[in-house]
Amino acid sequence: MSNRDEFSEDTKRKVALRANQHCSFRDCSQPTSGPSDESPEAVNVTGEAAHIHAAASGLGARRYLASMSREERTHITNAIWLCATHAKLIDRDEVKYTADVLRDMKAEHEAKCDERHRNALSAGEVVSDLIAIGPDIVFVGEFLGVENEVWSFHLRNFVDGDVHALITFAERYEQTGTIDLYVLVNELGDGRVLRGKPSVTKETTGGYTVRCPVFPSAGRIRAADLPKSLALSDSHDLMVQGGNLATVSGLDALPQQVKTGLSHQRGESPLHRDFGTRFAEYYNLLAGSSWLDRYLKLEVIRQAAIPYTDPTNNQQYTPLLCVERVFGVEILASAPTENWLPIRVDLDVKGVGRWQHNLSVCIPSEPIRGCKPNPNTVDIL
Ligand SMILES: [Zn+2]
Repeated sequence: MSNRDEFSEDTKRKVALRANQHCSFRDCSQPTSGPSDESPEAVNVTGEAAHIHAAASGLGARRYLASMSREERTHITNAIWLCATHAKLIDRDEVKYTADVLRDMKAEHEAKCDERHRNALSAGEVVSDLIAIGPDIVFVGEFLGVENEVWSFHLRNFVDGDVHALITFAERYEQTGTIDLYVLVNELGDGRVLRGKPSVTKETTGGYTVRCPVFPSAGRIRAADLPKSLALSDSHDLMVQGGNLATVSGLDALPQQVKTGLSHQRGESPLHRDFGTRFAEYYNLLAGSSWLDRYLKLEVIRQAAIPYTDPTNNQQYTPLLCVERVFGVEILASAPTENWLPIRVDLDVKGVGRWQHNLSVCIPSEPIRGCKPNPNTVDIL
């Protein structure tokens, strides 16, 4: 077994994504991936996630830091995305390419990618957005249309997973838990539960066409009918009114319904292991890059559109209860304050219409530990 502290596949993909699949070396910016003609599954990846501090000690190890833990060495902060030429170059000269020099290059390149992306968005250019099929497959593409309850997409590149993962997902469709059978589309701000296996066809012009049979939109309640729950103050604490814990319901409960729904981390509750978002996971991988907003939006769509089945009473509801569509999610601070990250949500709410609101969501610094309080008061009668 290798004693090198290698990056996980997930970390490699995310570091490539943050670099927009281009070499991070100053003034290089060479593209590092593209479709391949060798087989429908092949993608030419010429880039690599290079270690800033070497993966193992020994001859040829560059910038090795014995004091680092395995976890630190394999963390995304120790990776820089480079073309093959520059990955070799930085491992030949650790005097010129110190850890600080590499970290500066990485930060500079990521900032440039981010700016380019934001400019394209504000100029109204068509920017392909993220589409997720189940929890492990995310790709960049466009919605093509719907016919006979089948949603079609053009897939440009995979961000998470690959064509093989998509085929495997289709093959294992019957064995997959219903909680993971969904499609989420940022461009539409909406998602659906899958009604059948997705199919994938390679296009001669590049990319793939993906077709997903879907169920009709899940039922939502009107905001005015939101159930009673414990009221939370701006500082995220329970409130006392006349000696009792204060409660809110209906429209007054909407801001905190969205806030608590989005602050619950998946895996946090032993009784409801599948309930909650992946905000903390995504934040830890993508903080500081414009991809984070897009990943968080996918998660808000999932909470808005994909029903959760409560295992304790078998009742089914969408976690955000009354949200019908997600127009946007914007992060308002560069980092959370005491685990709370301010965001702006732009939603379509049943019985209200378009609703924009600033709120804070919990991003625990240690994943799956949660923030207090966690009233977890989703109860539907
Ligand atoms: Zn390069």
